[in-house]
Amino acid sequence: MNRLMLDLGIIKLASPGIFHLLPLGIRALEKLKSLIDKEMHKINAQRLALPALTPAELWEKTELFTLTDRHKNLYILSPTHEEAITDLLASIAPLSYKNFPLRLYQITSKYRDEMKSRFGLMRGRQFLMKDLYTFDIDMENAEQTYSEIIKSYENILTKLGIGFSQVLAATGNIGGLISHEFHYTADVGEDKLLFCSNCNYKGNVEISGQDYCPQCKSTKIIVRNGIEVAHTFLLGDKYSKSLNATYLDRNGLIANLQMGCYGLGISRILGAAVEVLSLEQELRWPLVLAPYKVVIIAPKGGSKEEVLTSGLDQELYDNIDKLDGYTGNILLDDRNHLTIGKRYLEARRMGYPYIIVIGSKATETNPLYELNEILTNKQHFLDKNELLQHFRSIQ
Ligand SMILES: [Zn+2]
Repeated sequence: MNRLMLDLGIIKLASPGIFHLLPLGIRALEKLKSLIDKEMHKINAQRLALPALTPAELWEKTELFTLTDRHKNLYILSPTHEEAITDLLASIAPLSYKNFPLRLYQITSKYRDEMKSRFGLMRGRQFLMKDLYTFDIDMENAEQTYSEIIKSYENILTKLGIGFSQVLAATGNIGGLISHEFHYTADVGEDKLLFCSNCNYKGNVEISGQDYCPQCKSTKIIVRNGIEVAHTFLLGDKYSKSLNATYLDRNGLIANLQMGCYGLGISRILGAAVEVLSLEQELRWPLVLAPYKVVIIAPKGGSKEEVLTSGLDQELYDNIDKLDGYTGNILLDDRNHLTIGKRYLEARRMGYPYIIVIGSKATETNPLYELNEILTNKQHFLDKNELLQHFRSIQ
């Protein structure tokens, strides 16, 4: 489906694993960012931005982009920011216990010098990620925060309308006490997930093998491929201890903060969602991310429909554009040198969820418009008021 995104001008390859995001791609991405911002606001997380360039001494990992400044100092382009944010907290430590919990996130470009970048946006060398870091005064609070953030991530993924699985995961390079991943199951996924039908255990096979359930030892298991779209870690004091991110407790004593970190792959979610939903020849988006929700196809130039429906296209556009949730989300395809059929097929390929055709029934005394609901394959003929009412009801 990466091919469809390239063919249809959503993204363009700049160099291996690095993409230009073209106007429609950015629209979808901005919708995802705004959905996440709203969800973060609900859990009192505040947004900040940490620099992409980090002095290299903090790092000894592979797959990093490194560069040298004019003073011969070595920098890396950060793939993640646990150290940087803990360092930031340490620089203002110790704050009073009254300042916690503290939840800070950013939505920024990250970089990884992948050996094998592929699958378009799903595994790029520059990618957009949302990373959240939480700070609590003790483990009990940190665990509560962890559950709360997981719930919030479930809310975000539920809004995208694609089924997902939350599985136990290895803590790996980042470390910590417990870790979960969220996956879309799809053949193209690079992870293998184990689902136990005996005890409902779900885990990445990297921690459990793929022969039997690690929890109940049953062999009634299913192994499926997954695309990882989010990863959460309960870190404990792994970073705060070594970097001195401390606070003053109730008794005025200095103690280490307990942390969590939570990544959400924004460009990857976009690529993966399109991968899971699209047809062979037609893009499909989660309804909330489609670059535009509605397209109106005006009659062909010189046709009797054009003469008899003059002005109706603009009127319809203006009316729908005023509806809640549709403002700025509607296109008027007035390239009337093209046939309706050609523009309709193009709109389907782009995956716009609602396509309105102004055809022969729009020439009647009470003009009827052809509404095509692409996600459900339904077609209705509605007059203006019915059409507006329909959009209000599905909003
Ligand atoms: Zn089991």
